[in-house]
Amino acid sequence: MNSGELIKKSRSGDVLSRNELVYLLGLAPDSAETYLVMAESNRLSKELSGGKAEVHAQFAINLAPCSCDCLFCSFAKVNSVFTKTTELTPEQAVTYARQFESDGANAVFMMSTAQYPFERFIEISEEVRKHLRQETTLIANVGDQSLKNSTRLKTAGFSGVYHAVRLREGQDTALSVEKRKQSIRNFLEAGLLVGTCIEPVGPEHSNEELAEMIEFTASFNPSYSGAARRIPIPGTVMAKRGVISELRMAQIVAVTRLGMPRSVMGNCTHEPCTLGAIAGANLFWAEVGANPRDIEEKTEKGRGETVCSCQSIFHESNWAIWSGPSRYYNGDR
Ligand code: SF4
Repeated sequence: MNSGELIKKSRSGDVLSRNELVYLLGLAPDSAETYLVMAESNRLSKELSGGKAEVHAQFAINLAPCSCDCLFCSFAKVNSVFTKTTELTPEQAVTYARQFESDGANAVFMMSTAQYPFERFIEISEEVRKHLRQETTLIANVGDQSLKNSTRLKTAGFSGVYHAVRLREGQDTALSVEKRKQSIRNFLEAGLLVGTCIEPVGPEHSNEELAEMIEFTASFNPSYSGAARRIPIPGTVMAKRGVISELRMAQIVAVTRLGMPRSVMGNCTHEPCTLGAIAGANLFWAEVGANPRDIEEKTEKGRGETVCSCQSIFHESNWAIWSGPSRYYNGDR
């Protein structure tokens, strides 16, 4: 096996196997071979999305300590970063969403912590939906849901969701892998499109674990897959495990693209960076309000990027920007 053969195989329209993904993930991130894999991923991403990248924008409707205790998350109770609970009023949520809309975000994401009351989430969502243009794509980023709740999200006006089985789910989180997978099936059955990602990648994750997760995300034909590195939350146990470089993340973004069927147009990375974009990422996120990777209550004062700064990172990486509703969440699939 060598990278030239695997690139050729991908070019002929084949999805790489788990062993082939492991091989590519095992190359040195700064090797000429990896740069060729990144170039091929970039070529393929541009072919599939017409050279136009998207920027989606997320706001959190609440900030609260969460007993799901995902060790990488600043909301996790166990990390003691946030101790008080705050939530947006419906009016504030509408203001955030409309701002994203006028900034040119291709999709607006509403996030809540896993235990935020579902009825309240629906209530605020309906208010937000009413105040957005009909064509604006609205996406939910919420905890695990039943089929009934998934259908309610669809009826409330969401086109899709973001949902992922995180790396070492059930070990580094108090959630069950099976429940995460069942939620993905429920969302799909309710007619919601599901975007996902290989996340949050840390230095301890083996190439086999990453390849297995890439294969899993490909298995349900998501709106997009991709890769995101873990951002260390200062003072936490997880922070001691360290962080992978942007270049390693870019390599994983590229290999993930070659592990997806061509029906998957999107390839995301977070946090936004030029290396990710040149490695074939065609989706970044802007963020305001609470952010599970930040210790600032308002991430716009911390790590959060704006729609404009995300677009400019894409421009610096030789990508044009798609204008209008997200194709990843609206295409015929
Ligand atoms: S990632 Fe979600 S479920 Fe996990 S602790 Fe953070 S808010 Fe809770």
